[in-house]
Amino acid sequence: MGRPRLHSDTHLASEGEFSVTPWSVKGKVDYLRLAKEFGVQLIGEEEMQLLKSLAGDIHPLIRRGYFYAHRDLTQVLSRHAAGGKWALYAGRGPSGDLHIGHLVPWILAKWFVDKFGVEFFFELTDDEKFLVKEGYTLEETNRLAYENALDLIALGFEPRNLHLIIDTEDISLLYGIAVRIGKHLTLSTLKHTFGFTDSTNVGAAFFPTLEMAMAFLPSSLYGEEVPVLIPTAIDQDPYFRLGRDVAPLLGYPKPATIYSKFLPGLTGEDKMSASTPESSIYVTDNEKAIKRKVMNAFTGGQATVEEQRRLGGNPDICPVYKYHLLFQESDEKVRSIYEDCRSGRLLCGECKLMLNERLSSFIASHREAREKAKERIHEYRIQAKR
Ligand code: SF4
Repeated sequence: MGRPRLHSDTHLASEGEFSVTPWSVKGKVDYLRLAKEFGVQLIGEEEMQLLKSLAGDIHPLIRRGYFYAHRDLTQVLSRHAAGGKWALYAGRGPSGDLHIGHLVPWILAKWFVDKFGVEFFFELTDDEKFLVKEGYTLEETNRLAYENALDLIALGFEPRNLHLIIDTEDISLLYGIAVRIGKHLTLSTLKHTFGFTDSTNVGAAFFPTLEMAMAFLPSSLYGEEVPVLIPTAIDQDPYFRLGRDVAPLLGYPKPATIYSKFLPGLTGEDKMSASTPESSIYVTDNEKAIKRKVMNAFTGGQATVEEQRRLGGNPDICPVYKYHLLFQESDEKVRSIYEDCRSGRLLCGECKLMLNERLSSFIASHREAREKAKERIHEYRIQAKR
């Protein structure tokens, strides 16, 4: 099995360098260079045309460049065009701190479900969270799996196209596949890919086999080749590279992926972090908290109103603009924010108020949909359908 090439911290020695691993992101990320080093394809004209011809349009998250790279997306789309079956797969290590960045790949998954009529297999890894995070009991991570599932269902999925797999409850579906995967993975590969050390507990060391097994579950359930497409952030690529290496050894199709950049923190970090609450908008934040966080956000604006009017701001380095890019529905609005910022017509305070309005309404509708999801959650459990 090929060893994934990852950046190491030594790359940080000189200015402009960065490090991206599944467990940490450091420095200012050069996304084009990262795609090249990971060996993934950029989403270009060919992919856009294919998406447009099959779906009728292109989701703003792809069109605006937030999802920007992939492995085998074109193969999956070509398969679709030829009438072949495929599915979506994503997962979540359950915790109580779900922020809007977590919802973004699921929003894209919803678009694929709607446009392509595919099924979405979703793994809630209550086992992993218990194994790798201090302070959680297994009962607690299991309870949180149900809580996080509500946020997923709230995005509008129907039971016929969303299948929830909770590891500790649905293990019989995955274990046979995981054991076969495990036989092909050495400890040294796992140490290199996941940063495991000799102190890592054996439960955590086995866990990646379950995550990979999910990529093969649709094929296993249908008894035919059903490749999956995984929408995720690019730092997760090493996990799925391993799955792609193992797939042919077990007679499964290689998982395809579509990769996003990182959602920046409102306080200016390159990646939103759960450990800096003021940098993230949580699905549980009330209106007051959302407004406080947005109005205190770092910007690419000038120090004074006079300078902003005269020199304009820099939306390219501004997290407020990046949130507009992800959460404003209208292309026209996004374009005018960009141009008005550059020209100095728009002041940061006004721009933040627009973002606050958009995020507050998004979270308010999400919360309402989440409440309704409570009555239906059992309908989405894969076991309930078998
Ligand atoms: Fe950022 Fe908006 Fe200020 Fe421009 S006007 S720098 S996009 S906050």
